[in-house]
Amino acid sequence: MRRILSSAAILAAIFALSLAGLAPPRPKPASAPATEFSAVRALDTLHRILSTDTPHPVGSPANDAVRGRIVDELTRLGYQPQVQTAFDCAEYAYCATVNNVVARLDGTEPGSAVLLAAHYDSVPAGPGDSDDGTGTAAVLEIARALKAFPAPRHSIILLIDDGEEAGLLGAHAFVDSHPWAKEVRAAVNLDSRGTSGQSLLFETGGANDWAVRLYARHAPRPSSSSIAYTVYKQLPNDTDFTVFKAAGYEGLNFAYIGDEVHYHTPLDNSANVDLASLQHHGENALPAVVALANSDLSSPPQKEAVFFSVFGRWMIHWQARRTLGLALVTAILLLLQIGWMLRNNRLTLQQFLWGMIGWLATLATTAVAAFLLARLIHAAGGTPVNWVAYPLPLEIAFWSLAIAIEIALAMLFARRAGFWGLWTGVWAWWSLLSVVIAWQTPGLSYVVLVPAGVAALAGLPATLPRRENGAASSVAAILPLAASAFLGFASAILLYDGIGNRGLVPIALAVGLILTPLAPICADLRSAGGLRGLALPWIPILTAALAAFAAIVVPAYSAKAPERVNIEYWKDADSEMSQWIVQPESGRLPEPIRLAANFRFSERGAFPWENDAAFLAEAPNLDLAPPTFTVLEVAQGENRRTYRTLLRSERGAPVAAVFFPPDSNVESVRMGGLPLQPETQRFRSLRNGWVVYACAAMQAGGVEISFSVPLGKPVEVTAADMTYGLPPEGGFLLQSRPLTATPSQMGDVTLVSRRVQLLP
Ligand SMILES: [Zn+2]
Repeated sequence: MRRILSSAAILAAIFALSLAGLAPPRPKPASAPATEFSAVRALDTLHRILSTDTPHPVGSPANDAVRGRIVDELTRLGYQPQVQTAFDCAEYAYCATVNNVVARLDGTEPGSAVLLAAHYDSVPAGPGDSDDGTGTAAVLEIARALKAFPAPRHSIILLIDDGEEAGLLGAHAFVDSHPWAKEVRAAVNLDSRGTSGQSLLFETGGANDWAVRLYARHAPRPSSSSIAYTVYKQLPNDTDFTVFKAAGYEGLNFAYIGDEVHYHTPLDNSANVDLASLQHHGENALPAVVALANSDLSSPPQKEAVFFSVFGRWMIHWQARRTLGLALVTAILLLLQIGWMLRNNRLTLQQFLWGMIGWLATLATTAVAAFLLARLIHAAGGTPVNWVAYPLPLEIAFWSLAIAIEIALAMLFARRAGFWGLWTGVWAWWSLLSVVIAWQTPGLSYVVLVPAGVAALAGLPATLPRRENGAASSVAAILPLAASAFLGFASAILLYDGIGNRGLVPIALAVGLILTPLAPICADLRSAGGLRGLALPWIPILTAALAAFAAIVVPAYSAKAPERVNIEYWKDADSEMSQWIVQPESGRLPEPIRLAANFRFSERGAFPWENDAAFLAEAPNLDLAPPTFTVLEVAQGENRRTYRTLLRSERGAPVAAVFFPPDSNVESVRMGGLPLQPETQRFRSLRNGWVVYACAAMQAGGVEISFSVPLGKPVEVTAADMTYGLPPEGGFLLQSRPLTATPSQMGDVTLVSRRVQLLP
């Protein structure tokens, strides 16, 4: 019993340290030395460049004003900023004219350069104070500090780019056409997907052994892991670094992801800026940029690393190719110990096999129970969206569930397996897992490999003697358990912020795996017997039940963590019919909105190119001029007809688009003279096969679009334009949206569309 209490105390201490290690550093005051990064100074800059909480998407007058203030800041700091203007298109054919701000600090060795980047545009729905106002302010504060250092070996290029939210357009334009882009060897990028939390190094270029080594040496508060990197690679998310990496740049990508509920909403505002996160951005990026600029950039070795930070203080890293060898040595050492114990009758084969079955049964039970609990909470309305919402009770529920199952099953299997059956069963699996993971995805391997290695070594004094030694077996059980918690807890805590409610079952499985080394210690509970021993698994079971109950009964949304509900006005100029369209992310219409108009539910939304369910209500037919789509020139080839057209918004809307139906076989599209890549299958299937070409920064004269379609078949395209916000007639709907709901991303919009027949 004493052994289990001391294990619990050690686990609790490691959990507390892991949690504390995830906190960003204390902000430095405005009086900090000139060579240091001060979040207070950076916040001052942020307030100057984003003077009001106004959304400023690419192409908007508000965005022009922000850019003007960024240019002024750089000039004041002694730089000669330039504005690079270019028309560019994203891979999903969303185009805009972007205006990047670029400046440079020359190094002593010409030829190669380091890029420091952030984006200044916001989404239409929110002011983007954190995404990416803090990144922009951090670049400016770093630009100030760099002037206080001796000239670096390689030049440092500052890029504060535009149109990131519209599809990484500014970064594309820089890489494609800015003359300095060819000098860049490494990039440091700053962004965010929330408004708080630690600035996490979550992505690197191909030579990550080299870049992580530099980061580990110079960052005062490193926070990273090759697990975060491996998980991120599986997600469809993108930042400007995607473009830099594709251009062959090495480097480091930092973001913070706390309070994800604010991301791309009006709550990404100045009130929610977290000074500590901003400080962490600076403490990561400033030393990284200086170290990269003073390193040998000629040809960093293309080696991968396994790496992780410990309690936000230290970084441990090694070359990924060493991992498989380490895993094999560990597995052999453990197998030899198991064989030795069997030979000396310290362990029977049955006990060993029951230990192995126990491990498997524990994880299988955890998976099934977590899956059922997740379904139950979802059915009861506790997790209306598959994303981040109301995390605390959910996290407590799934952690507790995993703990309860671990203890209960260890007690169950202890009768047949005993202490050593459970110990050898657990570590045989872990060493096997180490070999497989080290071989398949070395970046994930350290969480199992290091504890298995500790077990293989800490086990020796207990397994080698022919007689049982209580103290030695305690060490053999507790040390690798501590290593497992030490390496696993931080990643398990971050998992929810990383992937939201989709992560609940993985969280339980991760916690279950991290705690399987507890099994041999739980065997003591059987000998302790009586009520005391049995009480233990009931504590986490009750906690899990209470937390699950809280997740269900406490409303999922609040004013601080609202649900995403966009409202649209759509006028179809051909039928003269207009509609209100409400799209709640949860699929459920908030009660006050439902009462405001006579809504009907449409499972497939309002448009043939959309799949998301929506609620539709009749709206007044307002006098809004539809966009024009004028054929300027037609040329007829053997099989196809080529058009040159002009898409123009008659009401001066910032966004306009043309939609081609699935069977139109449109090809060779150019927008504003720029050839567009054919849409990928992924984007086509998202739009039911429709092909969409959009311009997000319309000029008064319109935008030219040329394309070809096959002869002999009539094609009817739809032209639409979009303004941000609703017409005044929609005021009653805006008022009906409760405080627990918010627009997000594009926000509320007004659409006017018309159909245009092309020649058969
Ligand atoms: Zn961003």
